[in-house]
Amino acid sequence: MLARVIGGGLAGAEAAYQLAIRGAEVELYEMRPVKQTPVHKGAGIAELVCSNSLKSADVNTAQGTLKEEMRLLGSVVLRAAYESRVPAGGALAVDRELFSAKIEKALSDTGRVTVIRREVTRIDENTIVATGPLTSDKMASEIEKKAGAERLYFFDAAAPIITGDSVNREKAFFAARYGKGDSDYLNCPMNKEEYLRFYDELVNARKVILKDFEKGELFEGCMPIEEMARRGADAIRFGPLRPVGIKGKDGEKYYAVVQLRKEDAYDGLYNLVGFQTNLAFPEQERVFRLIPGLENAEFVRYGVMHRNTYLRSPGFLSADFSVKNAPGVFFAGQITGVEGYMESAASGLIAGINLSERMKGAETHVLPETTTIGSLQRYVAGYAGNFQPMHASFALTPPLETKIKDKSLKKRAYSERALSDLEKYIENNKGVSL
Ligand SMILES: Cc1cc2nc3c(=O)[nH]c(=O)nc-3n(C[C@H](O)[C@H](O)[C@H](O)COP(=O)(O)OP(=O)(O)OC[C@H]3O[C@@H](n4cnc5c(N)ncnc54)[C@H](O)[C@@H]3O)c2cc1C
Repeated sequence: MLARVIGGGLAGAEAAYQLAIRGAEVELYEMRPVKQTPVHKGAGIAELVCSNSLKSADVNTAQGTLKEEMRLLGSVVLRAAYESRVPAGGALAVDRELFSAKIEKALSDTGRVTVIRREVTRIDENTIVATGPLTSDKMASEIEKKAGAERLYFFDAAAPIITGDSVNREKAFFAARYGKGDSDYLNCPMNKEEYLRFYDELVNARKVILKDFEKGELFEGCMPIEEMARRGADAIRFGPLRPVGIKGKDGEKYYAVVQLRKEDAYDGLYNLVGFQTNLAFPEQERVFRLIPGLENAEFVRYGVMHRNTYLRSPGFLSADFSVKNAPGVFFAGQITGVEGYMESAASGLIAGINLSERMKGAETHVLPETTTIGSLQRYVAGYAGNFQPMHASFALTPPLETKIKDKSLKKRAYSERALSDLEKYIENNKGVSL
């Protein structure tokens, strides 16, 4: 049985490993170093393009739960991460060279993975496409042929998304402008002093350096909040932070108002309206937490402005990551609309298991909706709202059956439910391939 995996990044490496340990002969195609992406620096498999942090290792967070789920499923990326760990407090950070070398060795040790260094421009049967946010142009054209041009995004100019739970409701309140229509927006009001402090930090915050190739195309249609702010102290107050039509309970008026819009049906996630940004991730946390009500905001997705090729997957992919009308072709990684190193690897893990199952004529797997991986599988296949790449988050899983007020206990309950449901799922599917 021969399987092909296109792209030797986080998702592709994990997928190739999962296929190989289940008995498939795997050709893993990686175009670097023959052809480089604008962001990767070397030729290593599973190169981390930016930070060396794989985020929290605390099991009582969504990121920690995702890691524990990956451990239960036998992830090679997670194993390599622990074998190359460097001290970073509660985060799982790695020595990036060692991390890549450990994964290459694990692939080679299977005896079934051949790494082929060339750009692939065609998608055949029994293939996983894991070409990432910097998919080569020729492969992007091939994907467009299969999926339709309207399904492929090339740039991402997105505002941060935070959890509803982390918003301080003593300061933020629901209201409709002029009291008309439903009170759909959560409003974070600011007085003059709060606004000026926020403004000052916003215009002076550290930005991500954009590559020249991105600048022109991005900025014409979509202005980052910090650039708009630079036009003058009132520019954003007359723009996305316009306070007009919003009054407090006692009729008080505000100097500026940041509005949060629901991202999902459960009141779980909110985006900061008009806050597409190019600030570095830690700067987004520091500066946006100055907004009253967002002091403890938990970011599930940072704002970004960069090249990011991804599919509008709902309707095109099934929850097992295969193409609906071509079940022998799977997609994995950031290109499916998951976001983050570990989320990409986790989707590669599921796509690898599932292609192996499909080649054997067996049923594919969609993990329980209570798990972080299972909820991402459903997000990718079925999200009905404004589809954008998404991190693992408990807010994507169904609400808990009993209400828990204490936030850390609530997270623990989400985590325990996810891991217990995954353990049961694995137990029930042992005879198959998990
Ligand atoms: C600039 C940038 C910074 C990011 N920073 C972070 C961060 O700090 N933390 C985080 O969690 N996430 C970050 N991400 C998001 C995401 O987690 C990473 O992009 C992650 O590497 C995605 O994994 P992947 O396997 O989908 O893609 P990749 O890891 O990019 O792997 C795809 C591979 O496919 C290869 N390829 C592409 N086209 C072809 C082709 N036609 N034929 C053969 N090979 C091909 C590429 O060379 C690449 O090696 C960042 C993304 C970008 C673009």
